[in-house]
Order: sequence, then C-alpha cells, then structure tokens
Amino acid sequence: MNPKIETLRSLEEFDHILRDIENEHYQVAGFKIVKPSSEFIKIAEKGRAKLTKKIDPRILAQYERIMKRYGGRVVVQVIHEFCGGCYVKLPSELAARCRTELVTCPNCGRFLYYVK
Ligand SMILES: [Zn+2]
Repeated sequence: MNPKIETLRSLEEFDHILRDIENEHYQVAGFKIVKPSSEFIKIAEKGRAKLTKKIDPRILAQYERIMKRYGGRVVVQVIHEFCGGCYVKLPSELAARCRTELVTCPNCGRFLYYVK
C-alpha cells in the first residue's frame, strides 16, 4: 500500500478512537465498560499529533475537510473500480492510479486505496 495512504489511515484510526471515547453510545455496544484513562487519551492525542507532522499540510487540510463533512471514513477502499465511500464508478485510469499514487474520488473527495 502507498505509504501516504497508510499514514492517512492511521490518522483516521486515531480520530475514530478519540471520537469514540467521547461517544457514550459506543459503550453500549456490548463491551465491558471501561472509562479510558487520561493517560490513554494523552497517548492517543500525542500519536495523532505526531502523524499530522508527517503529512503534507495541503493533504492534511483536505483530510480535515472531508472528516468534518462526512464525520469519518476519509480513506476508502476501491471495490471493482467503485468508490467505497460514495459508490460512484471511477474512471479505470483513476482506479488504476490509486494503486501507486495518492488519489481522491472525483465525486466525494475521499482518499482512495486498492486492495488486491
Ligand atoms: Zn467517492
């Protein structure tokens, strides 16, 4: 996988963790209720901040915009040339490029990646 996509996916993971911590309903999902320690939250926030330094500011701004707009699922999988975020059919050339380059969906703007 493209290393830039991997970094963005890790960032998304941190954002989901930090968001779930604030969401009480998440705790109802059948897990043992554990209140995250302030130590864990600090570590997660630090990890997130460290990642953001690795990302081009323009790409980070784009990521933040999409995260705000859709509330999650910023980096999505391409499934048979369809965007996994908005389900639009992608041009074959674009779908092929996301194997090696950082590419966004022309419809929803999400970052795309391909899994064999
Ligand atoms: Zn899309």
